[in-house]
Amino acid sequence: MHINITDLKVVGSSLEVPVFITPEVFPDLPLLSPIRGKVSVVFRGDKFVINASLEVEVQLECRRCLGLFPQIFKIDFQEFFQQGMPRITEGEVELEEEELNTFYFQGEVIDLGPSIRENILVSLPWNPLCSESCRGLCPTCGANLNFVDCQCQTEE
Ligand SMILES: [Zn+2]
Ligand SMILES: [Zn+2]
Repeated sequence: MHINITDLKVVGSSLEVPVFITPEVFPDLPLLSPIRGKVSVVFRGDKFVINASLEVEVQLECRRCLGLFPQIFKIDFQEFFQQGMPRITEGEVELEEEELNTFYFQGEVIDLGPSIRENILVSLPWNPLCSESCRGLCPTCGANLNFVDCQCQTEE
């Protein structure tokens, strides 16, 4: 997703861009729906401040029953884009929060694709559960205990 910032020359000028990205754009993400939402860009003088508010449906695999289930995620993030090359300041010990979220670009176009991809990835849960009460699979016969009661005895 590319945002042309040619018109943002005056400090404080801004634009808002609707987002509609089809799942094929990110084949490595388990997307079930297009990524929708909006992105606002404000020129702050030194940097372009991006605020994204997105929504997408993702397919997850339950860690207990291994069933696939859909979940809708709201993804909001703020990032900063600066034209040119990063300044290397010698002796700089700690990077401020904003510096960590600053990306550098050349020309008049900001490519937001990598940011969107990264922010979706970090939003995905490590241990997805189809439901808090998911009963999982029987360790003996492998039956999905959400749907069947198997005859195995569980002795603990
Ligand atoms: Zn489950
Ligand atoms: Zn069983």
